[in-house]
Amino acid sequence: MSKYICPICKNNCFQLLEDNIYTPLNIQYKISWCQHCKIAHTFTSNSNKDKKFPIDISSKYVSPFYQIIMRYFMFLRVRKIRAILRCQSLQGKRILDIGGGSGGFAQALASYGAEVTVIEPQKIYRQLISKNSNVNYIHSTFNNTIAHTLMKGKKFDIVTFWHSFEHLNNPLSVLKLVRPLLRVGGFVYICVPNIQSMQYTFGRQYWTYLDPIFHPFHYSVRGLSKMLQRAGFKIRKLFPYSLEYDLFGWHQTLLNRITESNNYLYMKKKKGIEIPSSVATRYVSAVHIFLLPLTLFANLITYCMNNPSCIDIVAYKRPVQNTIL
Ligand SMILES: [Zn+2]
Repeated sequence: MSKYICPICKNNCFQLLEDNIYTPLNIQYKISWCQHCKIAHTFTSNSNKDKKFPIDISSKYVSPFYQIIMRYFMFLRVRKIRAILRCQSLQGKRILDIGGGSGGFAQALASYGAEVTVIEPQKIYRQLISKNSNVNYIHSTFNNTIAHTLMKGKKFDIVTFWHSFEHLNNPLSVLKLVRPLLRVGGFVYICVPNIQSMQYTFGRQYWTYLDPIFHPFHYSVRGLSKMLQRAGFKIRKLFPYSLEYDLFGWHQTLLNRITESNNYLYMKKKKGIEIPSSVATRYVSAVHIFLLPLTLFANLITYCMNNPSCIDIVAYKRPVQNTIL
């Protein structure tokens, strides 16, 4: 631990937040908080290079009720983008969605007339994007080569990271690559879990959005704002409470806390993976609906205290003369 260096600022000014988190693969993780960056970092002695990101199951295998809810949440996501760009329709707007996953968000944006490009490292998701939608799908990680290729075209109005930014190993470099892709005054929109939320304070190592296997960094509002400023952006807006993420986050975090397990229900329903778990975890998860009143109460407190589980932030591209690169 004495050798720990923050990967962003290279300082060793840190505080251990979580010690000895064991994942289903029995690999040990620790999480430390950099007092300089105001960002936490996951580290492990086992590099676990074979880790495979579990992909979502196809929407045709989920219940019609869940599909209706997801359509409503997509509408809410698109409404935020329309509010940021100050337009009713997204006709003619150019949007780059980095880490777009199964393309649900991208296709919802395209249905409002936007010209959307998705960059997604998981090739399998490409099959889920309708050929009729106005979505250009690039199967790749976001890197120098992709950025230079995209730079040859017209500039984007907005670049979005919908719960993909926390998966990046080099977030500051990525933001610096994004900046030249934007038109003058263009936006970057990031939604990530908030390590300084009530939900984390309650859940700690059982917090549903901690996910140490796939989240190398854990952001606070101040930390992410500082990073955006370093990359040449100015903060425009911080969205408050998110119905989609706060509702689900509290429900699964409560389940995790009660059963001392991690995301059993989510992995089963969303990814189609049954994590080896205790009998208690399986039984409690089967009757999870009875936890709903408690989930709703926790959401009410979150809403009243304005301390959401995720940071939902918009920043715009600053003119070059004010940029610290
Ligand atoms: Zn740091």
